[in-house]
Amino acid sequence: MLPVKDAESVIFNLINSLKLKENREKVSLDAAVGRILAAPVTSKLDFPYWDNSAMDGYAVRYEDVKDINPDSPVTLEVVEEIPAGYPPKVTLKTGQAARIFTGAMMPEGSDTIVIQENTQKEGNKVQILSSPQPQECVRHKASFYQAGKPMLPLGIQLGAAEIAVLATAQCTELTVYRRPRVAILSTGDELISPNTPLQPGQIVDSNQYALASAVAQSGAIPISLGIIPDRPEELKSAIARAIDSADMVLSTGGVSVGDYDYVDRILAELGGEIHIRSVAVKPGKPLTVATFANSCLYFGIPGNPVSALVSYWRFVLPALKKLSGLANNYQPVFVKAITRHDLRAGGKRETYLWGQLYLVHGRYEFALAGGSHSSGNLINLAQTNGLALVPVGEKLITAGKEVQIMQVASPLYSY
Ligand code: AMP
Ligand code: MG
Repeated sequence: MLPVKDAESVIFNLINSLKLKENREKVSLDAAVGRILAAPVTSKLDFPYWDNSAMDGYAVRYEDVKDINPDSPVTLEVVEEIPAGYPPKVTLKTGQAARIFTGAMMPEGSDTIVIQENTQKEGNKVQILSSPQPQECVRHKASFYQAGKPMLPLGIQLGAAEIAVLATAQCTELTVYRRPRVAILSTGDELISPNTPLQPGQIVDSNQYALASAVAQSGAIPISLGIIPDRPEELKSAIARAIDSADMVLSTGGVSVGDYDYVDRILAELGGEIHIRSVAVKPGKPLTVATFANSCLYFGIPGNPVSALVSYWRFVLPALKKLSGLANNYQPVFVKAITRHDLRAGGKRETYLWGQLYLVHGRYEFALAGGSHSSGNLINLAQTNGLALVPVGEKLITAGKEVQIMQVASPLYSY
């Protein structure tokens, strides 16, 4: 049994050595949200593109207005009006000003804006009531970004702010990583789909739905391959097809030590290199991780629905994010919280207990999900946004004490 941290680093290291085949593609800016940059972006444009006014007011020459006090205002001749979007036509000379609006280009000869509130209009003249600072309210060309400098690095995920930057830079086509294809299959003779009438002894294949949803949420492409019975030949050909068709395969069930647990043997027969067979974690101990020569990463996940999702959150999702090309922030996020309930564990394996993470006046609190914490009870897994970690060697974290929580969704707020 590998400790959790060791299993995590084995998996991350495996991803360094895998290559997503033809792993880049071009997308238009309209379709780029959520994608991960596969090449750094630079722009040929400075930003701001040209000197412009940050306020509504008057463009002036600082020399003309630098010594104003309430007893000696200065009056300037208004020689032009410059709305945003129209280039100025006049060069300002001494004693002149231009009416200007936010975002409009500064006219030649001007260097400072006097905001409207500090002026008094008099026909085609304007009285300046107080001295501005030199270059006040001017947004200088290239002061925010210089053409040719690095703008966005590779390996970041594009959200609204990055899309805005790219639009501004007129980068309308982007090189992003291809979204990983993740094949999902459920193994077990007892499994049926949710729309098949239940016969005695059967169980609905919830894992297929849980994992396909989780993969879709991550931005990768789920490929649901359905239910495969516990028959070695059928299982072998299904697994072989999955490996051929995907960058990552998630199978659930059949990785334990039962008489019908064939997955590890089949992976070896298909030429897989098995790197992990079990992890000192609860739930989710019998976790198989293998790689194939075609660069496919295989996770054989235990079949219990809670074990399946906890294994996904703890090991698969970070791996998938890294495989997707994220250079950073693919690791799970842990926060410290005060537990509202006693948290119990066996002490031998790193234990994850599911429940709700609350943010209460800026501090995190954790409430253990009510009901049974059996790994077969998926009903009380609903609404889980945090997993409380009880480390190896500890059997009890008492209510009121601090605990590490792995966040799996946003915290709830309570006031
Ligand atoms: P296994 O890992 O195959 O030994 O399965 C462990 C337990 O999880 C058994 O009770 C199975 O019936 C249940 N199980 C296995 N696969 C699924 C699945 N896809 N959906 C829901 N429960 C499952
Ligand atoms: Mg099974």
